[in-house]
Amino acid sequence: MNEIKMVDLGGQYLKIKEEVDREIKKVIDTTAFINGKIVKEFQNNLDIYMGEGVHTTTCGNGTDALQIALMALGLKPGDEVIVPAFTYVASAEVIALLGLKPVMVDVDEKTFNISIEEMKKALSEKTKAIIPVHLFGQSADMEPILKFAKEHNLYVIEDNAQAIGAYYTFSDGRKMKTGTMGTIGCTSFFPSKNLGCFGDGGAIFCRDEKLAERIHMIANHGQKVKYHHTVIGCNSRLDSIQAAVLKVKLEHLDEYCKARHDAAQYYTEGLKGTEDIVTPFEAENSTHVYHQYTLKVKNGRRDELKEYLATKGIPSMIYYPLALQEQEAFKGITRSCGELETARECARSVLSIPMHTELTKETMDYIIESIKDWKR
Ligand SMILES: *Cc1c(COP(=O)(O)O)cnc(C)c1O
Repeated sequence: MNEIKMVDLGGQYLKIKEEVDREIKKVIDTTAFINGKIVKEFQNNLDIYMGEGVHTTTCGNGTDALQIALMALGLKPGDEVIVPAFTYVASAEVIALLGLKPVMVDVDEKTFNISIEEMKKALSEKTKAIIPVHLFGQSADMEPILKFAKEHNLYVIEDNAQAIGAYYTFSDGRKMKTGTMGTIGCTSFFPSKNLGCFGDGGAIFCRDEKLAERIHMIANHGQKVKYHHTVIGCNSRLDSIQAAVLKVKLEHLDEYCKARHDAAQYYTEGLKGTEDIVTPFEAENSTHVYHQYTLKVKNGRRDELKEYLATKGIPSMIYYPLALQEQEAFKGITRSCGELETARECARSVLSIPMHTELTKETMDYIIESIKDWKR
């Protein structure tokens, strides 16, 4: 068997090589490396993909997307922003960077996403926004989040870096794409993300046309007319070569989501009933696009399983080894809501195994059998 990889960007590229190479070559031939025509084309295609009424602004990366979103909402230093305690650092980092206060909230032990009950407890007079994260590719429970936000006049910024292409279903049957339900949605095109480019990239989604205009302006030095700067912004651009890659890959995104979901089903079926292992939970009201396939390993045996898999030539990763409240950078600048015990426990027990669009049954069978053979 070939070497097993966590992600197989090479294998994915080979299948679309001709198209991608052709689009990249076009960019090189025109030398419009920044703000080329293709950036606008990709942006328009993404508007359509995300759903009617969505305005997209592409930008430099997913972290910038979150920062620009917070800047566009005009929050003031000291304002509080609610964020789940179990997430990638970027979701909370940008809050602190802008002098706002991250308020860390515990997560649901099944979905790894923000706990609705804990979110409600975190409210204070200073709360201005919530950043739900659709972690590992599954939507946070948006209906109660949006309801709560409306009741308390809060903005909702969805961190959709891991879930582009996923749907959430409301209790009345309405379906919406993750990243398009809140005030603003943010995503990342980091190479290993579900829609990844060949470098850095990101995007911001918004349904409010005025706000979308402001977002656009902030990502572009606060100017609408060149050299006329209305507000303080930043320089965050998606370059033309990345847009070329993304334009091709966007055409395949639904297929990629399906490949990931099929692989996940196969793992879950194969690992059913395996002692000490909890396979991922799929919420009924959300499609799961499996940015990661994340197991929970019981009885403090996570690191033991990781080492064992390595001896079998199977890579695995710990996303994430520390909860936010355990990160040194956040000491003294955050507020915690409660003990955040579930977030801490997740950081101790999670283990992600290979998940990508090119997994074969043979590879997955080998991984499943190896996990089942693990000595207990
Ligand atoms: C990847 C990621 C980001 C940041 O994206 P970059 O493009 O790497 O800046 C933010 N939030 C989450 C949840 C992510 O997974």
